[in-house]
Amino acid sequence: MNYLGRFAPSPTGPLHAGSLVAALASWLDASAWGLNHPGRRCQWLVRIEDVDQPRCVSGAGEFILQQLARCGLVSDQAPLWQSKRTAIYQTALENLVAAGRAYPCGCSRKDVEQALAAEGVQRPRHAELIYPGTCRAGLHGKPARAWRFATPPGTVHWQDRHLGTQQQDVSRDVGDFVLQRADGLFAYQLAVVVDDADQGVTHVVRGADLADNTPRQMLLQRALRLPTPRYLHTPLVLGADGQKLSKQNDAQALQLGDPLAALNAAAAVLGLPAQSGDVAQALQAWTHQWADRWCA
Ligand code: GLU
Repeated sequence: MNYLGRFAPSPTGPLHAGSLVAALASWLDASAWGLNHPGRRCQWLVRIEDVDQPRCVSGAGEFILQQLARCGLVSDQAPLWQSKRTAIYQTALENLVAAGRAYPCGCSRKDVEQALAAEGVQRPRHAELIYPGTCRAGLHGKPARAWRFATPPGTVHWQDRHLGTQQQDVSRDVGDFVLQRADGLFAYQLAVVVDDADQGVTHVVRGADLADNTPRQMLLQRALRLPTPRYLHTPLVLGADGQKLSKQNDAQALQLGDPLAALNAAAAVLGLPAQSGDVAQALQAWTHQWADRWCA
């Protein structure tokens, strides 16, 4: 077996302390695997996930690549940009439709809220809407707005390298999720699954905030007959409010006047000791420690 890892930032702003943790962890995992498997093919890629165009900030993708390079984290292939891959996502959607695994949906958000209320479903404020399956059996004369995955019933199990045994009943907890939105843009779930498979990704290392997306992605992999990579979800950086640090709660862009200081902070979240010296030496030292800890 070979190793192909990736870091897949959404360019909704510059890299911040939280996203650097995922970048560093995924880089170290690839580097440690290479150390343990001399002579085997091992690569780490960067993929710019600019599929949700309205949320992307102009120039942020290029800036993230510069920030990563300052930290010694450079993609082994030219970075892939999801905005250029619409035709590939379209083909995947058509395959799902042909297999009876995706269907058009004519419901607006308000329609979904009303259907849930009619069923007496109580929803905590700001919780995701669980689609009640209104259009599964047909559009009832409404025009198609979006495309949804026909989520099969049952529990998905997987073994996360950090979180251990995980499970989720996607049909109960998430429902038939969106693959292509009403504005024509493809959803993250579909794009990430297609790209991980197309690039031959074997190991996904990313923040724990994405752990609950994994079962959705596994169901899509099965429906598209694609392999499932191994998953490791890293601890998150929490802000002063105890919430996950994210662009949404205005996490500060990384100041890279001192890249080693930024890397040391990210390493601390991963339980790795601070290093002195230069960036390359620090990455090398952490690679050995990561290999001992996560790849034994
Ligand atoms: N682009 C996603 C994000 O920044 C991460 C995708 C992934 O690692 O699967 O939240």
